[in-house]
Amino acid sequence: MESPLGERISFEFRNKFNLETDVCVIGGGPAGLAAAIAARQRGLQVILADGSAPPIEKPCGEGLMPETLSALQKLGVEFDRAERQTVRGISFLQKNGGVTADFPQSTGVGLRRTVLHERLVRRAEECGVRLLWKCPVAGIEGKLVQLSHCAIRSKWIIGADGHGSRVRRWSGLEKSWRNEQRHARRRHYHVEPWSKYAEIYWASHAQLYVTPIGCNEVCIVVLSEESEHANFAGALAEFPELQRKLEGAELASRERGAVTAMRSLRRVQRNNVALLGDASGGIDAITGEGLRLAFQQAFALADAMTAGDLRWYEQAHRKLMRRPMLMGELMLWLGRNPGIRSRVIRAMQNRPELFARMLAMHVGEGSPGELLSTSARLGWRILAA
Ligand SMILES: Cc1cc2nc3c(=O)[nH]c(=O)nc-3n(C[C@H](O)[C@H](O)[C@H](O)COP(=O)(O)OP(=O)(O)OC[C@H]3O[C@@H](n4cnc5c(N)ncnc54)[C@H](O)[C@@H]3O)c2cc1C
Repeated sequence: MESPLGERISFEFRNKFNLETDVCVIGGGPAGLAAAIAARQRGLQVILADGSAPPIEKPCGEGLMPETLSALQKLGVEFDRAERQTVRGISFLQKNGGVTADFPQSTGVGLRRTVLHERLVRRAEECGVRLLWKCPVAGIEGKLVQLSHCAIRSKWIIGADGHGSRVRRWSGLEKSWRNEQRHARRRHYHVEPWSKYAEIYWASHAQLYVTPIGCNEVCIVVLSEESEHANFAGALAEFPELQRKLEGAELASRERGAVTAMRSLRRVQRNNVALLGDASGGIDAITGEGLRLAFQQAFALADAMTAGDLRWYEQAHRKLMRRPMLMGELMLWLGRNPGIRSRVIRAMQNRPELFARMLAMHVGEGSPGELLSTSARLGWRILAA
């Protein structure tokens, strides 16, 4: 069967569809659940289908920035004190020292990914989203979404099916401006967090980032361009002090691998289909921005569907991606240039307010003018170092 989008679909849609809705969300990760909640908040009928069942676990650094928390609040999602750990800011650490800054206005949190997922699911249920778990979607055509046991007719179809999105392929939205991938491994350790900050350790060929996620638990992710360097033994060996802190600590989960990407798609919507979250492109995991972006995209998409025009979403999506893309580029560049990185961190050690300003811009405070003046001052310090 030839789809209206020119894609050959390898199955036959049933003649009869048995469900009907305004919005069908494919994928019940954080992005899909947020989109479903935001659409319900605007009065749209929503069905969400996911091939797995909650709580869905996915390798993640498990750090929520202050803006991510604000977006969650807007969705009506909050967490108990006992299940989260406050994160006051970020530390950059290298072999010969480091620099730390607080988030400017409020704090972030670290918490288990499964807790985040459970809360989003609970909120979606409260809002009246119809949730279909263990229901993988096999294809889409026009207004129809095909599940194994039925089809759904929907005015809008949202592809929130993650990094390897099939909706992206089915809807002909695969073309990208860039697509660079890195490798990641994630571990949880039973150990009392030693810092109120999320720590990024810059190793020779990898970065380790540590998030406190409970009173007796930390989450650690190792990231590298080469899969052989994305391993704990190699990266930890460069930081004996961190290694000592983890000595004897039991692993609190199975180590898991993942891929993270800097991907920017040429388009994120076509006809009645829109992509969201990792399906719609991505920012390298080291920025800790993936969840914030997904939630803010969900609001923009709900507004566009309410207004009846997905081109609004396309524009909003492009704007939302701009700042984190820049930050992602900067972090990757620092990772690839150890000599310059070392001087940057030294320069910021001498003038910690510059790091504080950079962090403020990372979390959405400060104008482009301030970014320019901070970069100029930092450049001057590096030359002087
Ligand atoms: C190592 C690593 C560390 C990270 N650390 C952070 C961090 O600290 N902070 C932060 O904000 N972000 C972080 N991120 C990014 C963040 O995890 C992602 O941006 C976020 O998970 C995207 O959510 P999503 O819902 O788009 O995708 P996913 O979470 O991948 O969800 C996709 C869902 O779609 C479902 N699905 C797929 N195909 C189908 C189908 N055919 N039919 C039905 N369902 C389907 C899957 O079962 C899944 O539930 C990190 C990412 C990585 C890889």
